[in-house]
Amino acid sequence: MAVNRDTALDWMRRFAAEMEEHRQELVRLDTAIGDGDHGTNMDRGMRKALEKLDGAEPADAGAVLKTVAMALVSSVGGAAGPLYGTLFLQLGGAMAGQEEVDLAGYVGAWRKGLEGVQARGKAEPGDKTMVDVLAPAVEAMEQANDLDGALRDAVRAAEDGVKATIPLVARKGRASYLGERSKDHQDPGATSTYYLYRSAAEALAG
Ligand code: ADP
Ligand code: MG
Repeated sequence: MAVNRDTALDWMRRFAAEMEEHRQELVRLDTAIGDGDHGTNMDRGMRKALEKLDGAEPADAGAVLKTVAMALVSSVGGAAGPLYGTLFLQLGGAMAGQEEVDLAGYVGAWRKGLEGVQARGKAEPGDKTMVDVLAPAVEAMEQANDLDGALRDAVRAAEDGVKATIPLVARKGRASYLGERSKDHQDPGATSTYYLYRSAAEALAG
């Protein structure tokens, strides 16, 4: 089993469907500690991404993810657009030119993606952001022996990571303006990143 152009396309279609399905949930989470736009941002961005993919003929998984990155950067404002744009650009860049991406290539691409998000947003684990899902998921994948296991462990780590954002005080992004009042709320960006892993696992399982 490997990651290729078709699994990447399937992944992005599933992620777009998750963003549509969970738009209200993400809006509700972002209304509590932000400005309420995360669900609409991500849904709009992924719709645009699918439109772009329909018109393009991406050669490989890397090209699929780079197309999505460009669509998100150009259609989603705020924090999440550039951060998800960076994530997909790094993922895509690391996978570029490979017809089939193996476990090492895939996990290495996620590490680059995490590094890109952190370079851009300066968030550390514990700051109540999408990094609280990305970091433990990447670490879990780095311990895995095959792609199947990597995705399964990533989803589990992502689920724990998203729940672990609830008691945290936000130190980055809009939610940080609330200080202590950001406690007892699940982070919206961490939640959408959890859906990103879930859709990746489903796409790989076929
Ligand atoms: P905005 O905050 O501009 O309205 P969104 O609502 O779309 O953008 O996205 C908010 C999410 O972005 C947060 O829940 C958080 O997970 C993520 N986020 C915000 N700032 C950062 C950052 N500096 N690093 C990583 N993630 C961040
Ligand atoms: Mg917002």
